[in-house]
Amino acid sequence: MFSDVLYDICHGAEPTVDSVAELLSTNDPKELEQLYEAARSKREEHFGNTVYTYGFVYFSTHCKNNCTFCYYRRSNKDLERYRKSKEEIVQLAGSLKDAGIDLADLTMGEDPEMYANGYEKLLDIIHAVKHDVGISVMASPGALPSDMFPAVKEAGADWYACYQETYNRELFAKLRIEQDFEKRLDQKISSRKAGLLAEDGMMVGLGESVRDRAEAILKMGGLGCEQIRTMTFVPQEGTPLMMSGTCDTVEELKCIAVMRILFPDRLIPATLDVEGIAGMQTRLAAGANVVTSIVPPHLNLAGVAQHELDIENGNRSVEHVFEMVESMGYRLGTAADYRRFIQDTLERRSLS
Ligand code: SF4
Repeated sequence: MFSDVLYDICHGAEPTVDSVAELLSTNDPKELEQLYEAARSKREEHFGNTVYTYGFVYFSTHCKNNCTFCYYRRSNKDLERYRKSKEEIVQLAGSLKDAGIDLADLTMGEDPEMYANGYEKLLDIIHAVKHDVGISVMASPGALPSDMFPAVKEAGADWYACYQETYNRELFAKLRIEQDFEKRLDQKISSRKAGLLAEDGMMVGLGESVRDRAEAILKMGGLGCEQIRTMTFVPQEGTPLMMSGTCDTVEELKCIAVMRILFPDRLIPATLDVEGIAGMQTRLAAGANVVTSIVPPHLNLAGVAQHELDIENGNRSVEHVFEMVESMGYRLGTAADYRRFIQDTLERRSLS
């Protein structure tokens, strides 16, 4: 029964795919509220009411890959792509830092120009943002050769993010076509070995079963990834999945809550990229503790899942997000708090 499973897992029972799937399967309003309440209580134990904030700098929308779910896949000819200069990226990251954002998420498609000459441009950009701006950095540059991670760490990245999206290998082959499941899985392992913190992510609504979701959550947490996330699939214009349906975002909320209950000490994002600012409240109420995808308006920067949502109207701007977070009773973590979190996490890891 749902409440017995929830009680047992909250009190230390070893989770299994079956028990996690049981939690993810409920649609009963009372049980959902129990699930979210348990998640908030676990978050409170580990993080109090602190919420961290990440700015999103999508600095190159060029990509050599052809993922079937992605607007930026190479076969989509219906978009104008851009590549920001190092100077522009530094300026953007600087404005995020000045506004009180804790981390700059430097994201790009798998852009061959950034990969040329031993990843020279990518490393140069990471170095400039870390050392000229002085903000914590997440590098989200696509799959890298495993021997590149020490250089990414050396350049100044704190985090490396690489989403598997699904741990169902058949589904992976249909989504991340022409890409290697094992190589992508190893990204999380090799980046952590090189001293980086790692983020993994799963998508919901792409044809996976509830058991697939349970397996993905257990796998992402089991790998030790210090940040784990889930996002609802949004069909994209100009892609093979353009006409496919998706699922109710409550499925994402259940996954957030279960991640929090199973892995209470991890960072879990509430993305603005699916439902904009309107979806932040429900994701925080389900146990998330990082607001990601904050994008400054009027700078011609794109989002990922929804390339325009709430950007130009300023609803994803720093001031608006901060006001909303505080009005919900959360405390905004400072950049110094966030750096301490990174240091403490790395120290704990080196001792274990
Ligand atoms: S998901 Fe990433 S790797 Fe795949 S096509 Fe989009 S930008 Fe490229």
